[in-house]
Amino acid sequence: MTTSKNPAQSLHTCHERSFRANRFVYPVLSRRSVGISVGVNLNPDKICNFDCIYCQVDRTRQSESTFVETDRLLSELEAVLRLVVSGELYEAPEFAGTPASLRRLNDIAFSGDGEPTTYRNFDEIIAACAAVKDSLGLGDVKMVLITNASMFHRPSAKRGLEILDAHQGEIWAKLEAGTEAYYQLIDRTPIPFRQILENITAAARVRPLVIQALFMRVHGEPPSPEELDAFCDRLNEITAAGGQLKLVQVYTVARRPAEDFVAPLSDAEVDAIVELVRTRTALPAAVFYGVPQ
Ligand code: SF4
Repeated sequence: MTTSKNPAQSLHTCHERSFRANRFVYPVLSRRSVGISVGVNLNPDKICNFDCIYCQVDRTRQSESTFVETDRLLSELEAVLRLVVSGELYEAPEFAGTPASLRRLNDIAFSGDGEPTTYRNFDEIIAACAAVKDSLGLGDVKMVLITNASMFHRPSAKRGLEILDAHQGEIWAKLEAGTEAYYQLIDRTPIPFRQILENITAAARVRPLVIQALFMRVHGEPPSPEELDAFCDRLNEITAAGGQLKLVQVYTVARRPAEDFVAPLSDAEVDAIVELVRTRTALPAAVFYGVPQ
């Protein structure tokens, strides 16, 4: 899933032999993370169970890989992590300009060109990636799952979340509507809104989640005040049911979206949404005017 949840999209290929040949693992300089995020793409076939109107995955071009080759993914992960921690990464032209303060490994992010939790053996791949991280002595490095929360009820996804919990995991779940109608307008999926809300609530009862909320103009119209109120109501329902939300990140679109009737909100409009969330929910909220990089 992307809310720019796709590190691969902004991948700066570097180190010709190792990166350009990579299919699943990519380093990204992330100013927001104040460091390097190593992206893992579990959806090389670019198939997603959502069809978000703002999606930034380029589905007009066929991908080179249509399935995850586990051994290759794990060796790419190990190689990229070694490059980052050794500092060799910054010898590559694409990363040579990385400021000293950002020359650090911040996280491993599971996102990619579709919804990561749809990967059938999600728990196994998360466990294998965690083992690579631990084998390199990187136990403290975060593992971030960027997700639409649609599959949390599946046993393999549930187990995967638990494995993340045991390995500095952080779950960023997207939620950007308050009503079924607006959810359908934005996310275009047969999965009911209720299922997403139930999944987020259940997962947030076990560990605190980060909510990623991307708002935009659709055919020139920003989300209505009623929709934003409903969005806050949904957040309040999650917390009233025992769900823990540690942060609500509010964004707008910055790169070319899937549909040309989608346009960004102004900074002032994004600020107003953040203020509304803070006031209506008392949750911590953070603003990002562009996509998270
Ligand atoms: S969840 Fe939406 S934004 Fe993310 S990859 Fe799927 S279609 Fe794109």
